[in-house]
Formats: sequence, C-alpha cells, structure tokens
Amino acid sequence: MVRIVCLDLEGVLVPEIWIEFAERTGIAELRRTTRDEPDYDVLMKYRLDILARHGLGLPDIQKVIADMGPLPGARAFLDDLREAYQVVILSDTFYEFAHPLMRQLAWPTLFCHGLETNAEGVIVNYHLRMADQKREAVMRFRELNFTVVAAGDSYNDTAMVGAAHGGILFCPPENVVREFPQYPVTHDYAALRVEINRAFTHSA
Ligand SMILES: [Mg+2]
Repeated sequence: MVRIVCLDLEGVLVPEIWIEFAERTGIAELRRTTRDEPDYDVLMKYRLDILARHGLGLPDIQKVIADMGPLPGARAFLDDLREAYQVVILSDTFYEFAHPLMRQLAWPTLFCHGLETNAEGVIVNYHLRMADQKREAVMRFRELNFTVVAAGDSYNDTAMVGAAHGGILFCPPENVVREFPQYPVTHDYAALRVEINRAFTHSA
C-alpha cells in the first residue's frame, strides 16, 4: 500500500465544531471565527474565557459535540475509502473536541492539536503541535515514498492540497473556488471518491 489520502475534518466529515457548538448552546459569542479575529491566539483565549464563564468544562463540551455527530454519509464514505487507501485526517481542531466524533467514525487516524485542562475539567490552555502541520504532514508522507491525495474545504487546507500529488476541494466557499481554480471541486461524497481515484490514477 503506497497511497495515502489526507482529509480535512471539519466541513468534510463533521460540522464546523465551534459554529455548531455556538448554535447548540445558544452562546452567540462563540460564532466568532478567524475571519472576525485574524489573531488565532486572541481568538482561542477569547473562546476559552467564554467557556469558563459559562461554566462549561470539557465533559460538558464533549457531550454537546457527541450529539452533533458526523455529517450524513461521512461514516460510510470513510469506511469505504479506508478499504482502498490509507487515510489520515489532518485537522486544526483538538483531540479532546474531536474524540466523541472519532468514536462515531470508528477511530480513524487523526493528526491535530491538544488542550490542557485543570483538575475540575476546565480548559485552561491549548497547544498547537506545530505550525502548518497539514502541509508538513503531506511533505513527510511524500518523503516516506507515499503518493498523497489531499482534500479539504477551506483556506487552511490549500497548503496541504497544494503539497500533495493531487488536491481536491470539497464543498468550498466561493472565494476559495475563485482563488484556487486549479483544483477540482466536489459537493458530495460520491463525487469526492471519484476525484480521489482519478487523482491517484493521474499521479501514478
Ligand atoms: Mg475544514
């Protein structure tokens, strides 16, 4: 097996966690994203502060996230994909948030970041494993002689998609489509699977 598929998580296999969390808890302030606050550290501290003020510890947060579930069809798509290829999910979320969703996806391999909680379960800090990890992971897989096809939905995926032998966009916003016209755009899992197969055929 020499082929790896790298998939983004949020917006591809599961909902956008912060947005969906804001909806489900009714905490509108948590809808703030990197589009509103470009400084990621400021944004994360702001989010963690809101969670603490609402008395939401990690177990409460995980319960809400478990109820979100993966996107419809994601589990079947992933199961099927893993029969044909090695699959690694590259995400900028945190293991502690993704955990309930990974259970529902049958524990695929996930590379992401980590949270730090205190004895009461309150999240006190976050730790990014490394900068630009999606692209770095693809580069390292290539060095290990894997052929890599990557798919994601958003700006934070374009470096990974560009570093792979083949790149695909899945349900991307219009501005990403306009800025990166070189990548095929897919809107459902059947089409994504066709493009993944095609990308490996072309890079063989
Ligand atoms: Mg995404």
